[in-house]
Amino acid sequence: MIRPVIACLDLEGVLIPEIWINVAERTGITELRRTTRDEPDYDKLMKWRLGILDQHKLKLADIQAVIGTMKPLDGAGEFLGWLRERCQVIVLSDTFYQFALPLMRQLGYPTLFCNNLEMDGSGKIVNYHMRQPDQKRQSVKALKTLNFTIISAGDSYNDTPMLAEADAGVLFCPPDNIIKEFPQFPVTKTYDELKAQFTRAGNLPT
Ligand SMILES: [Mg+2]
Repeated sequence: MIRPVIACLDLEGVLIPEIWINVAERTGITELRRTTRDEPDYDKLMKWRLGILDQHKLKLADIQAVIGTMKPLDGAGEFLGWLRERCQVIVLSDTFYQFALPLMRQLGYPTLFCNNLEMDGSGKIVNYHMRQPDQKRQSVKALKTLNFTIISAGDSYNDTPMLAEADAGVLFCPPDNIIKEFPQFPVTKTYDELKAQFTRAGNLPT
């Protein structure tokens, strides 16, 4: 039996720029540049980020104002369109629906599995809720039980369990430490290279 293909894509670093790095640049709070590329423990990273926001009295609306000025990565829209003509696509991200919305609008609202922020009455972010632990890997695992072949791409530590669980996992523009630590995954640096890897791995039409 030929199993249909689902491509599971990371969001930040694959289709859009790193949200927190942009927030750091716009707000001048340079500590917020820290990402999952630097800190593999996501819970530790998020609690630390919420503490910094609180310290600087930044609310959800302030962060959304920054995100509203961001654009997807150059070529991301074309790549996503190309991929969606050839297989089903699901974006698996550790970000939050409240952050991703303005960018999803620009990408034509692809299916997005992510998480929720919790605000108090004043709009201050008081907590965050991950839909399930290890959601990237668990999502791929679940989709495989529905008889799909999964191809996947990501750039960071939090993507590597997803890449390993997929039938084929590909790194896209990863930093050097990820390339060194995970030599089992092919490395791509352009959308054309990623298209070529996906075409081969998923037996997609060229
Ligand atoms: Mg990423």
